[in-house]
Amino acid sequence: MSADRRQAASHLERLLSTRNPEELLAQLAPHPGAVPPKVPGGAHVSDEAVQRRWDLIPAPDSRRELLDADTEACKESYKKNIEHFIGTVKVPVGLAGPLRVNGLFASGDYYVPLATTEAALVASYSRGSHLLTEAGGCTSAVLNEGVCRSPGFAFRDLRESGLFVLWTTEHLDEFRRVAEATTRFGKLTDMRITLEGNHVYLCFEFTTGDASGQNMVTLATEAICAFIEEHCPITPQYHFVEANLSGDKKASAQSFLLVRGRKVSAEALVPAELIEKRLRTTPEQMVNFWRMCAMGGILSGTMGIQGHFANGLTALYMACGQDVACVAESAVGVCRYEVMDGNLYASVSLPNIMVGTVGGGTGLPSQKACLDILGLSGAGKAQALAEVCAGLCLAGELSIMGAMCSGDFSRAHRLLARGKHAKKKTEGNAHE
Ligand code: NAP
Repeated sequence: MSADRRQAASHLERLLSTRNPEELLAQLAPHPGAVPPKVPGGAHVSDEAVQRRWDLIPAPDSRRELLDADTEACKESYKKNIEHFIGTVKVPVGLAGPLRVNGLFASGDYYVPLATTEAALVASYSRGSHLLTEAGGCTSAVLNEGVCRSPGFAFRDLRESGLFVLWTTEHLDEFRRVAEATTRFGKLTDMRITLEGNHVYLCFEFTTGDASGQNMVTLATEAICAFIEEHCPITPQYHFVEANLSGDKKASAQSFLLVRGRKVSAEALVPAELIEKRLRTTPEQMVNFWRMCAMGGILSGTMGIQGHFANGLTALYMACGQDVACVAESAVGVCRYEVMDGNLYASVSLPNIMVGTVGGGTGLPSQKACLDILGLSGAGKAQALAEVCAGLCLAGELSIMGAMCSGDFSRAHRLLARGKHAKKKTEGNAHE
């Protein structure tokens, strides 16, 4: 987080070019004074509650955009997903595909709805999906699953921590009983222990059926904590239901090494003719680029090696009612290319795909409609959705790396985002 001395000096110079230091300090000081009204009405979505919120906003024209007739008509359906509701933001949705996925759970050709305001994103994922499909599709497999909550317990000293750990290891069956009494679908599969001085972190690992499960594991872990409070002879000085060891909404070395949500691996062998025809490059050049990117990733200290998993995952999560903030951990993973018998072998592995097909935002009107486009709404579909996510990431990696190798990357962005035709420079001549 450090800044170079010259950068710091030039930043300060810019700031002080319009104001003197006293004015700046006054601007940054606490401003005591009357506090404007709170946003009223909690989770209520009645006309009156919504109007009272809009009355606070000094931009009445915004109402027309956010609270159109369709949003008004289904505002009841949002009340378990948002507080202080004032409307909806319209994010455009594009369709990528077809994406052929030959998975353990996902099987067939998928048209994938992607919500984004980024030009070239859907076109790129669509191109990669089509390429994979022409190559016979990608193999995609869920390999592991688990979502954890990690309560933290504080004791007087290390000896108490040790006694507490001993007691917890003897009570796993009771933990399972009280946890599973809170849910029909969550199952406690394991408990990991981290002892650090007089602190103990317990990591309770669950499977969560077709829900992504963050709420489910919180409620179940809270029940375990209540059991511990009531029955454990080694009383913690204090405890918290989550002490930040679960990897929730963070890229962490732990979730890279273990699993959070679902670990999925996807691969494909793409014939050289297709790489040349569709990406205008060669398997060898793709591998050259991948090798250089892998080293670039190491040199810059990234977690895993990949090009842009976050692009496809964010757009799919947004469209399909997933918790978009989980892209923080979901976009961690690896992509690898090899030349195999003259063709391109490509694989991706993502250990933290956090998706559900029930619960969370999956039942909201347009989000459910997007899951329906995939044929993956409701019970029994979460594993397939995770495999589609990995296939989509593989498609995105192939397309972006192909664009880099052929020189199409900036051309596509210039054309699609700026509406301008690419300027191609050949031997000193620039043409449109
Ligand atoms: P949820 O909507 O809170 O719970 C899922 C619900 O679906 C449960 O009531 C579950 O039943 C039910 N269900 C029905 N059929 C199911 C099936 N086949 N498989 C699994 N469950 C089924 O959703 P969640 O996935 O637990 O939580 C996701 C949401 O939590 C996301 O929106 C996320 O943003 C948010 N979140 C919460 C926290 C937190 O700590 N609270 C943190 C981060 C994110 P049961 O009641 O029997 O289990």
